[in-house]
Amino acid sequence: MNDRHGIGLTSQRARNRLVDQLRGMGINSEEVLDLIRNTPRHLFVDEALASRAYENNALPIGFGQTISQPYIVAAMTELLLTTGSVSRVLEIGAGCGYQTILLSKLAKQVFSIERIAALANRLRERLHELRVVNVRVRHGDGRLGWAIHGPFDAILIAAAAGVVPQPLLEQLAIGGRLVMPVGVPGEQTLTLIRRTEEGLSEEALQRVSFVPLIDGVG
Ligand code: SAH
Repeated sequence: MNDRHGIGLTSQRARNRLVDQLRGMGINSEEVLDLIRNTPRHLFVDEALASRAYENNALPIGFGQTISQPYIVAAMTELLLTTGSVSRVLEIGAGCGYQTILLSKLAKQVFSIERIAALANRLRERLHELRVVNVRVRHGDGRLGWAIHGPFDAILIAAAAGVVPQPLLEQLAIGGRLVMPVGVPGEQTLTLIRRTEEGLSEEALQRVSFVPLIDGVG
């Protein structure tokens, strides 16, 4: 049995502990908590960091990027899940793909964009290994969205910018919600945007800290 398996066996306890912690921080959705409990986050980080995968922390994934903190992944997922349909989902900033996998278990179809080619390729391999068939990964600039597959019921952006890119707003279905960290580095607010028949509405939620949404592809 190799180290990877050893971590796998001991990690169920660590995952349960993480779930208890997230519950204590206000995550209420049993569906989301079950997803966290059943998803092997250690497979999404470097082997050297695997033993820390169930701490409630962001961790480096290379290329100056981080896997988002479990609490914030859970909070964003819960937000989309409890406010409407998550059938057709667009994710911007897939990174290592941990959030992508959670979304794939809730959605009928996930469209995921990542600007760093190596991360996008690694994610495709991971999805293949994990036999996830309802996710399409695109290497590109997520600020443009993925119009031919829209409109989307839910859009999740895992990188911060001063404003929500206009194409993403345009690709939101009626009844759709978009969640994104909005603001300058160090001063971002998780923002929920809803599209109704009447137009767009915006709600500022909690303070967060994300890496920036960057122009173009890496
Ligand atoms: N949810 C991911 C978060 C990774 S950090 C995870 O938990 O692993 C944010 C990611 O957004 C990085 O991988 C970064 O490369 C990507 N990113 C930044 N700007 C982007 C853009 N314009 N289009 C697509 N991806 C972008």
